[in-house]
Amino acid sequence: MGGKITMKIGIVGLGLIGGSLAWDFTQAGHEVWGVSRRSATCEAAQNRGLVVAASDQLTLLESTDIIFICTPISLIVPTAEQLFSWLPQSTVVTDVGSVKGPIVAHLGDRWRRFVGGHPMAGTAEQGLEAAQPRLFHGAPYVLTPTAHTDPQAIALVKELIQTLGAQLHLCDPAHHDRAVAWISHGPVWISATLIASCLQEEDPAVLHLAQQLASSGFRDTSRVGGGNPELGVMMAQHNQTALLRQLKQYRDRLDGVIQQLETNQWEALETMLHQTQAQRPAFLRED
Ligand code: NAP
Repeated sequence: MGGKITMKIGIVGLGLIGGSLAWDFTQAGHEVWGVSRRSATCEAAQNRGLVVAASDQLTLLESTDIIFICTPISLIVPTAEQLFSWLPQSTVVTDVGSVKGPIVAHLGDRWRRFVGGHPMAGTAEQGLEAAQPRLFHGAPYVLTPTAHTDPQAIALVKELIQTLGAQLHLCDPAHHDRAVAWISHGPVWISATLIASCLQEEDPAVLHLAQQLASSGFRDTSRVGGGNPELGVMMAQHNQTALLRQLKQYRDRLDGVIQQLETNQWEALETMLHQTQAQRPAFLRED
């Protein structure tokens, strides 16, 4: 495909997200260099042809054009700090962390060519084994540049995201964190609380019957509450303020429903369900 520029892309953290990015970027003809914690992961990524080379040393990435930091969220800032101590100023750095406010506040001022990012795609699995091609195709991919971010860096990250077939969104880091509290981080605790409250049923026979009768509705509403515990807590720790705000508003709404039920306000309850039925599609994308 004449005229296409091949880039040297570094990826730190060859897990679900990092491995899937490596897959698509390699497929698109870019040169991908990987860094991961375990040498077995580096070897596997190389053997599978996801990267041209991989190492447990960040210095492998010294001549890359752009680096995607795809480590667990608590390691994103320390990894970037390490890179910034020796990386050429021209290198663009981006991350994929699921919370943006604290990361961008820390790194945005340190590196003008840092662009916060969050691909809104994933699976329940983790690690390189879970990596797959086209994971981001059709999914939203959020960038959260600030007034200090170098426009050329934003342009480069945008261009690469478009090659993934993802839907690009740009927003303020704080707005991102509030939005994901509503649609991702909050629902984990709402769904987990649903499962935990079912387990409070004091009659073991009734609990057993509920477990036998549960079908597609319960499968849908309990799915995100039955996911990876470490990931759920990590998101809560990093997005605590927005999550608390969301859960308190949810609790107020639930209290309102309980009060309407207690006072037989069937019309008001039906009105709410008409509204939620009409509004739900606005939250769902055609994939
Ligand atoms: P993951 O599958 O556990 O991948 C992270 C990988 O990082 C691990 O497999 C580990 O590889 C490697 N790693 C750990 N410590 C490291 C270190 N010090 N240096 C270099 N590599 C290290 O997790 P993930 O789901 O891909 O999540 C990664 C990031 O993506 C997180 O920040 C998360 O917030 C974000 N994210 C996740 C999802 C999702 O649905 N999962 C969606 C969007 C964004 P080895 O130990 O095998 O070397």
